[in-house]
Amino acid sequence: MRPSEIHKVKGILITLSGPSGVGKGTVISRLMELSPEIKHSVSVTTRPPRPGEIDGVQYYFTDKEHFENMINEGEILEYDSYCGHYYGTPRKPIVDAVENGDVTILDITVPGSLSVISNFPEAVSIFLLPPSFSELIRRLESRGTESPEVMQKRLAKAYHEIEMTQNFDYVLVNDDLDQTAGRILAISEAEKHRYKRLKGIEEALLKH
Ligand code: 5GP
Repeated sequence: MRPSEIHKVKGILITLSGPSGVGKGTVISRLMELSPEIKHSVSVTTRPPRPGEIDGVQYYFTDKEHFENMINEGEILEYDSYCGHYYGTPRKPIVDAVENGDVTILDITVPGSLSVISNFPEAVSIFLLPPSFSELIRRLESRGTESPEVMQKRLAKAYHEIEMTQNFDYVLVNDDLDQTAGRILAISEAEKHRYKRLKGIEEALLKH
């Protein structure tokens, strides 16, 4: 029996950060195949779509003016500027998901994760590391979606992001997709059973 069958439990917000090319997007797609309970928050960005990216699926693509309007209207939960473009998490779907008890995963930058953690202390932060820095370079090169100039910027960012690993609750080395996804599911499962998420369950139980 799950605690949620006795007592209303809020959802879990998981932030997933890690350097560009580490495989966050692929891990999230695998997680959603493995568990219908995991929802991915679709971010808003001013970066142009890559070939094959669809508006509303990978991102909501927009321009700078509209993005700044959304910030001013309070529609953005957190945002960051990364390699010359804005990226932000729409607020409403997250607030609704937490109320509904869903597990929501955010693929966001390190400052984005730090901002979520300070606003939602119950959020869980995970940092994804590559098996080595040379493997990260290889993965970014083989993706082939960035110009050499943008790739250099992303690698310089990656170096500093990896130095921020200590700020995260959990650290996973992404050398095997299924193992990484399985570990995230295990973290999410364990987090659901933390007493701080289940406060009052004993009283609810004693009434029955
Ligand atoms: P990409 O251009 O490779 O899709 O994403 C670049 C970076 O932006 C990645 O590190 C990704 O995690 C981050 N990112 C994507 N969406 C958001 C968001 O809503 N907020 C923040 N802070 N970062 C995001």
